[in-house]
Amino acid sequence: MLKGKTALVTGSTSGIGLGIATALARQGANIVLNGFGDVDGPRAQVLQAGQAAGVKVGYHGADMGRPEQIEEMMRHAASEFGRVDILVNNAGIQHVSAIQDFPVERWDAVIAVNLSSAFHTTRLALPAMLDSDWGRIINIASVHGLVASAQKSAYVAAKHGIVGLTKVVALETAASGVTCNAICPGWVLTPLVQRQVDAKAAEHGLSNEDAKKRLLGEKEPSMQFTTPEQLGELAVFFCSPAADNVRGAAWNMDGGWAAQ
Ligand code: NAD
Repeated sequence: MLKGKTALVTGSTSGIGLGIATALARQGANIVLNGFGDVDGPRAQVLQAGQAAGVKVGYHGADMGRPEQIEEMMRHAASEFGRVDILVNNAGIQHVSAIQDFPVERWDAVIAVNLSSAFHTTRLALPAMLDSDWGRIINIASVHGLVASAQKSAYVAAKHGIVGLTKVVALETAASGVTCNAICPGWVLTPLVQRQVDAKAAEHGLSNEDAKKRLLGEKEPSMQFTTPEQLGELAVFFCSPAADNVRGAAWNMDGGWAAQ
C-alpha cells in the first residue's frame, strides 16, 4: 500500500516508534529511523519487515531537542529519499515530579522534545507534501493529551500542546491531500513506562508483575497494555485511502482510560 513512499519516524530506535516504523515498512514504505542507542537491531527489524517490498532504511541521529539538528535531519531525509511523505512525530521523554520540585532544565527538555520538535519537523516537511498533494503527519500524543495526571506537568502540557498543534495543522491542510492526526495511547510497556513500573515497585516494595498491575489498575480499565504493534496498525490505517478525510483527530487507544 505504501510502496514508493518514505516515512520518517522520530524516536524509532525503541518502543512505539520502532513498532510504527516496522508496520509502515511492512506496507512497503522506505523508512528513516531516528533516536538514540543501538541502531543496528532496530534497522535489522525494519529491514526484515520490509524485505518483501524491497524497502530502504536510513537513519539520522538528530537530537529532537535541538532545532538545528532537526533541520539537518530533514535535509538528510530529502537528499537521501527525495521527500518525506509520512512524518511520525514520536520521540518523547518523561519526567515525574511535583511542580514545585520540577527541575527547570527537565521542563525545557520535555517541552522541546515532546512538543517543539513536532513544530520543526512539520514546518520543514509540509512544503514538499503540499507540492505533491499527499502527505500524512501522525503525532504520537498520549492519553495525557486529553486528561491529566499529577506529577507530570511538563509531559501533560506538551501532550495537550501537540493535540492542539495537530488540530491547527489539520485545518491549515484541510483542502489538500495532506492529513494530520494524533494518536493517544494509554500505557504501553516500553522502556519509558518500565522505568515508572520500577519506581512503583521500589516505592511500594512490589514485584515487577504486581507493580505493573498496580500501574494499570490506577488508570486503565482494560488492565491491558496497548502494544507497539497495535499502534503500528493504527498508523497504517491513518496512511490508507480510507483515512483520507480523517483530519485533526486525537484517537485514543487507551483501554478505556479517557472514557472515565
Ligand atoms: P521509549 O523510551 O521506548 O522510546 C523513545 C524513543 O525516543 C527512543 O527511540 C529514544 O532514543 C528516542 N528519543 C528520546 N529522546 C530523544 C531525543 N532528544 N531525540 C531523538 N530521539 C529521542 O518510549 P515510548 O514509550 O516508545 O514513547 C514513544 C512516544 O510515545 C513518546 O512520545 C511518548 O510520550 C508516547 N507515549 C508513550 C506511552 C507509553 O505508555 N509508553 C503512552 C502514551 C504516549
